[in-house]
Amino acid sequence: MTIRTCAHSGSRRIRNPVNAPAISIRGLRKLYGNFEAVKGIDLTVETGEVFAILGPNGAGKTTTVEILEGYRDRSEGEVDVLGVDPSMPTRAWRERIGIVLQDCEMLPQLTVRETLEMYAGYYRRSRPVAETIELTGLSEKADARAGRLSGGQKRRLDVAMALIGDPDLIFLDEPTTGFDPEARREAWTAISSMRELGKTIVLTTHYMEEAQQLADRVAVFAGGEIVAQGSPEEIGGRDKLPTRISFRLESRIAVSDLPPTFRAAAAADGSVSLDAENVTRALHEITTWAVDHGAELLDLKVARPSLEDIYLQLTSNNGEEGE
Ligand code: ATP
Repeated sequence: MTIRTCAHSGSRRIRNPVNAPAISIRGLRKLYGNFEAVKGIDLTVETGEVFAILGPNGAGKTTTVEILEGYRDRSEGEVDVLGVDPSMPTRAWRERIGIVLQDCEMLPQLTVRETLEMYAGYYRRSRPVAETIELTGLSEKADARAGRLSGGQKRRLDVAMALIGDPDLIFLDEPTTGFDPEARREAWTAISSMRELGKTIVLTTHYMEEAQQLADRVAVFAGGEIVAQGSPEEIGGRDKLPTRISFRLESRIAVSDLPPTFRAAAAADGSVSLDAENVTRALHEITTWAVDHGAELLDLKVARPSLEDIYLQLTSNNGEEGE
């Protein structure tokens, strides 16, 4: 991971036109020597949306995000971030961008309030410290030393540090990696509060649930390409895929006793998995059959493919690398 500071100092603020996309990428390529890490991607992030970047290790996520942040040069393509080419960053542009890394260095002996006061001093225009503390749910810990915070609270402070300069666009790098479920929920609340302020948020994550919970749209990277993008509900044609009805038969019941549609979808061990076009009709058929035969449909599930199912399908054959 590249070492960067977590907050930027800046001066005069600039604005991109209202309703212009926050980020626009056309034909972006990045070569490391002869190795093509990013292979001509196109991507648009609208102002005010939460955009999640997903993908296995080595997919090109960090490279792309660092190009957007102005910390890495590109080999080819057009990139516009808040109306500016990030390969020519200005201080005014940097002030509009907040970056939350996985491990923001903070001074452990400073309290939450002192930390934010220090960061606020880097900006000509900053958010009020007290308001930022409240917004990120740190009121009870305002006078606690940063070194004494729990993982979830530290992440809240990271978010507060990114917010203190009142940026328009915030990059979050795997915001909840290694968190327990409670800390993850806390971080999600803090991220949602940024969205409510109208900030544009780009986050990288390995957790499908996180993307599902937070993102308006997601892009799946694999092998340096974007293999799918869209809302968590529709990505990869998810919304159009059939719903799967699955169950197991009790051992005393033979597969050959099932209604024909279900018989064709049964395995020899009595497990049944049917992709149903008309779910209501299919469920009616099988439950009526079960009641008539005094049979229990064990472990009965009715589910659309999850975002995780789609993700695994999209990335399974596409340039995945081990860690
Ligand atoms: P992860 O989820 O593991 O962080 P990623 O999707 O962020 O992965 P990148 O860090 O962008 O992936 O790396 C994409 C590819 O480029 C990988 O094959 C990586 O080894 C390679 N790569 C990244 N940085 C460099 C570099 N400085 N020099 C050479 N190759 C690099």
